[in-house]
Amino acid sequence: MPTIDSHTHVFAAAQAEARGELCARDAAFAEMYAHPKAAIATPAELLAAMDAAGVERAVAAGFAFTAAADIGEQNACLLAAMREAPRRIIPLATINLADDSWRRVAEEALAAGARGFGELRPHNQRWDPLGAAGHGLCDLAGAAGAVLLWHVSEPVGHTYPGKHGGISPAELCQLASVHPATRMIAAHLGGGLPFYLQMPEIRAALANVWFDTAAASLLYDEHSVARAVDLAGTGRVLFGSDYPLLSPSRQLQRLRALLPDGIAQAVCGDNAATLFAD
Ligand SMILES: [Zn+2]
Repeated sequence: MPTIDSHTHVFAAAQAEARGELCARDAAFAEMYAHPKAAIATPAELLAAMDAAGVERAVAAGFAFTAAADIGEQNACLLAAMREAPRRIIPLATINLADDSWRRVAEEALAAGARGFGELRPHNQRWDPLGAAGHGLCDLAGAAGAVLLWHVSEPVGHTYPGKHGGISPAELCQLASVHPATRMIAAHLGGGLPFYLQMPEIRAALANVWFDTAAASLLYDEHSVARAVDLAGTGRVLFGSDYPLLSPSRQLQRLRALLPDGIAQAVCGDNAATLFAD
């Protein structure tokens, strides 16, 4: 079975070069990428990192831009990357539900091959995930078999660039409860949400929510992924590097060292292969 990185970010080469202009017009982008050492990768660089790590496929997202033109450029890049490497790149399109045209953008992206949407940052883009558009997105994704990748903001702990602006574990729980058939990935171990799977009604409501390991090594102690597997089940945790923030190669090494073999294979590829089966 393949090794799959379920959480990476890429930008068009022209956007990587226009970092300063993007920072000037998009405050959330500036928060995460204004620092010159904050890495920005192109699809070609992602493919090289995948080769170096022995990763066959990667879920590639962009950034939750506000402006329609930036989103358009982002999605064109992601879809072109998929066309050039169709067996390797699984694109998630960027959408902004605060923009009335979001549904058209979403439908066009799915028609062009996007497998879902993300990394969703509703509060950065100033839309309410529990508002009408948020429910509309869940309905659309559920009907299309698309996957929603949410940046889940931990309600506690230290701050870091980009921490806030996603969805809270409580909001995600509420949304998933209303849309139990819509498949969702709660990034960053769901901001602690797996703990509440021990409540029977929450376990039932979150039957189609997966949890990725993106940036877990920056947030939690080294046993956190094993605990998430214990709480959520082997089939519900996905390896995600958050590349280029972290190296897929190093993160894979770490997970394989920390998890028993069978569980590591499920987390590092088999679960995502099932979630993103053609
Ligand atoms: Zn995130």
